[in-house]
Amino acid sequence: AETELMRAQRFESLAMLAGGLSHDLRNMLQPLLLAGDSLQDYKDDPRLARLGALVRDCGRRGLDMVQSMLSFARGARRAEQLRLGNLLDALGLLLQGSVPHSVRLTIDMPDPELSFQGNHTELQQCLLNLCLNAIQAMPDGGELRVETSQVTLPTDFFLEEEEPRSGPYLRVAVIDTGTGMDDATLARLFEPFFTTKETGTGLGLLSCKRIIASHGGLMRVESSPGQGTHFHLYIPLVELAADMAGEEDAESLQGNA
Ligand code: ADP
Repeated sequence: AETELMRAQRFESLAMLAGGLSHDLRNMLQPLLLAGDSLQDYKDDPRLARLGALVRDCGRRGLDMVQSMLSFARGARRAEQLRLGNLLDALGLLLQGSVPHSVRLTIDMPDPELSFQGNHTELQQCLLNLCLNAIQAMPDGGELRVETSQVTLPTDFFLEEEEPRSGPYLRVAVIDTGTGMDDATLARLFEPFFTTKETGTGLGLLSCKRIIASHGGLMRVESSPGQGTHFHLYIPLVELAADMAGEEDAESLQGNA
């Protein structure tokens, strides 16, 4: 029988093929669309103008198809339906060995059944990075809180480079009562290899940022020296497309038989 890994690999190759094809097709269709556009404005010959409109319309339909193929290729890596409870339970287990007695860990999860589309491994990695940073910032102990809630964001919340989105988000706050950061550290936080630790890699937060961005999410940080640190993640609550979810159900039913 096909294993989970084989299925993921097959999906991955399909996504790569779709991604490559769409890219080439787009490069071919764009000049065609332009040519159609200018022919359409050709006043002296109505027949040519009609052909121009035809070329442009076909070009536009082609580009739309290419666009959906590209979205498929991008989405393929994270077409998993996640349950918040599973994600945070796993985080708690992973942290168990790393939380010193002097640190009090609370994971607050009002709605463990909250379900959304994402990549379990990546999000786990991201949360783990944030929590380990928090623990390292509390050498004399303190409190580490992971809070979750469902929020919608007002348009003025989004930065200029971010696409405003009105739908619901999962908000995850990772809060520590540690050393906090000064402005100089805050300014360089996401630079590759920026670290203030003797054995740090300076890649943890950059990788978090990439993971959250690939989920279409946002990241915010508030911190000042001696006041601890709050990291906030906002992950769009997107459901897996119904047809894909149906396929998964069918397969797991077969597996149980
Ligand atoms: P690393 O942990 O390897 O240093 P990161 O990219 O995860 O790399 O973090 C970069 C720097 O940001 C850290 O060296 C530290 O100075 C600062 N930092 C990150 N999280 C916290 C936190 N919770 N409290 C205080 N400082 C932090």
